[in-house]
Amino acid sequence: MPSTWLLIANGTVVDGAGNPPVPNASVLVRDGRIHDVGPHVTRDAVPRGETLRELDATGKTVMPGLVDAHCHMTYGESRSEEEIDLYTSPESRTLKAAFHAQKVLRSGVTGISQPGGSYYIGVALREAIADGIVQGPRMTSAGRYLSTSNGLTDWYPDGVGVPEGSIGIVHNRLDDMIDEVRHQAKNGVDLIKLADSPYGDFQAFTTHEMTVLADLAHQLGKKITIHARGSAEVDAAVTAGMDWIMHGNIMDEATVDHLAASGIPLVPTLLLLANAGDWGHLVGAPVPLRDGMKRMLEVSADSLHRAHAAGVPMVLGTDSGFSLSPYGVWHARELDLLMRYAGLTALEAIQAGTSNGAQMLGLAGEIGTVAPGMIADLLVVDGDPVADITVLQRREAIETVIQDGAVVTFDEEAIARSWPHERGIGYSVTDLTYDVVHGADPRDLPAPDQFRYSAEQAGDLVSDMRRRERSVQTS
Ligand SMILES: [Zn+2]
Repeated sequence: MPSTWLLIANGTVVDGAGNPPVPNASVLVRDGRIHDVGPHVTRDAVPRGETLRELDATGKTVMPGLVDAHCHMTYGESRSEEEIDLYTSPESRTLKAAFHAQKVLRSGVTGISQPGGSYYIGVALREAIADGIVQGPRMTSAGRYLSTSNGLTDWYPDGVGVPEGSIGIVHNRLDDMIDEVRHQAKNGVDLIKLADSPYGDFQAFTTHEMTVLADLAHQLGKKITIHARGSAEVDAAVTAGMDWIMHGNIMDEATVDHLAASGIPLVPTLLLLANAGDWGHLVGAPVPLRDGMKRMLEVSADSLHRAHAAGVPMVLGTDSGFSLSPYGVWHARELDLLMRYAGLTALEAIQAGTSNGAQMLGLAGEIGTVAPGMIADLLVVDGDPVADITVLQRREAIETVIQDGAVVTFDEEAIARSWPHERGIGYSVTDLTYDVVHGADPRDLPAPDQFRYSAEQAGDLVSDMRRRERSVQTS
């Protein structure tokens, strides 16, 4: 069988393994795998008569595609937990996930792991992408997070319970948790996701529960990870032998030492915190949420710097999928945040965003570096991310996305669109007090443009009725 070749000629290769960039180097790809890399590589290695495509990368950077190890494809850019849990049907959630997958890939993210999401949409999406039916990054997926009444996702009063559409499933007895892990394994997840306390102020699962669930997941051939922000639960997660840990915002010395000695990677996932803290005011995010997330980000700097210094491997994760972390926009910002809040160099950050994420895709040693034998998921970047990591955040700078050795073509017009916001039953974003109407000092009131929802976007009851009125008028 003749081979199909791709030559990416004369770029600066940033290999994703942390080595210094190699200028004037070419990457030769054969049948989806990297065949050779370096200044010596030319088209002469390609036998006459075989298909060769050439890309000129002069003045550009060639690097591995990014891996986002914390990307929730089923959240649908929701603006509230209620939108995720209650107002979005499984059908619309599935379609949205497939639509959004192409945005993620377009931004240079060629691999994602979904640590939790509703139903088994992640499993189906993973398969559709692997089969080439849906355009998107290669993917691994968990099912609904396993949580307790003291962790994430038990948001509502007990009288309401946890809706079927929730991203989590709540169990307070170990036997029920075991039952859930067995069902999720049967239904094709790659990993189990546990969710401990929301803000890390206490440990929600017992260490025994974590250990039993980790052992069972491993026995069934699955990975397991945990949302763990505080010292106690990070320490317990290390003891339990989790495969990687999400967050680790607040860790004491002993926990950092324990984590470092274990070799378990940490996915700090700072993006959502930073976006809410830095820019939440532009989109009407509630003040307590903005302040809480900003505080969490600032306090993380100490733990993460110590963890990095102690040699804990760091991995890019973003919590993309909320309205504050829309798909295909901010993934690469995490690299900048890892530099600022954990002390990584640019080369270390790129490593965190590429080869360090291979394990979360179940492809350690096969993806994330530019080296012979590796799967050719690559980017051609117009700019130098080692000199300026933020170049990876610019859509225009991600010039070419290569997946399995093939240049991906995108429907740019379709990708630029946004999926309409789901209906929620909101009445206002602040209270209509006497002063609002009858003139307190206007400076005490929120500026009208603080809430950038148009009536259309808000999707509330009133605008919904208006829409209907308008459609009646025009018909
Ligand atoms: Zn998450």
